[in-house]
Amino acid sequence: MQSFHGVYEIEAGNSKIFYIDGSEKILVDTGLKPLHTDVINYLQQNGYNFGEGGIELLKKGARSKIISFLKKNRFKVDSIICTHCHGDHVGNLAVLKEEFKVSVAAHSADIPFIEGIEKIKDPSFVPPELIKHFDIDPCKVDISLKDDEFFNEDVRIIHIEGHTKGSICLLYRDKVLIAGDTILGKNLLNPKMGPEDLNLPSEWSCMDYKKAIENLPKLLNYSFDTILPSHGVVIKKDGKRRLEQLIQKSIQK
Ligand SMILES: [Zn+2]
Ligand SMILES: [Zn+2]
Repeated sequence: MQSFHGVYEIEAGNSKIFYIDGSEKILVDTGLKPLHTDVINYLQQNGYNFGEGGIELLKKGARSKIISFLKKNRFKVDSIICTHCHGDHVGNLAVLKEEFKVSVAAHSADIPFIEGIEKIKDPSFVPPELIKHFDIDPCKVDISLKDDEFFNEDVRIIHIEGHTKGSICLLYRDKVLIAGDTILGKNLLNPKMGPEDLNLPSEWSCMDYKKAIENLPKLLNYSFDTILPSHGVVIKKDGKRRLEQLIQKSIQK
């Protein structure tokens, strides 16, 4: 299992969960909950590439992957941080919070969505009869995060509003940027969603795409070398320079 300066990635199909093995043991995001057969059939009919073992994984949800990763490495969890309120990140939040008996942290602006007080707009690509299967199980959030604060001595919060209102990146020891969905890596299964090594977030997935792009340069105020996006391949080195190039390109357009 590969660690990036002390941060592990847990692959769960097309999205990732991260584990910070620092002064505190933190699970970042919780992946998709088990998908309903109707949803899997629909995705299959629409040519979605699940990759090897992907369908089984979607049926089971990301929870089993997380638990087996933790068991295998004898890792414990002190708390869970959510990068944002989307279902592929908070899908197993309620069950894992209960299972680990830990506190959950998220940016204040996404808390109402995670707690089920507000509902995010239904994704336009999902047919109406399947929408109900995308509902997330509400979960109480214990710690409200804000921009630029230190969660602990090694993790800093960077608020990048746009993908969702309260989307955050986590900066680990000025080395690793856990990017959530604020930027995307190269998507090997579905190249249309991430053709380059580093990509802007996809417009359809953002609550406010314009803000999501406008706020990206904020990340350049910080130091980091590795970028861990939730979707797509990791950028192991030179991440800041490559993000700078991506931002330059997006301004020229
Ligand atoms: Zn998202
Ligand atoms: Zn996502």
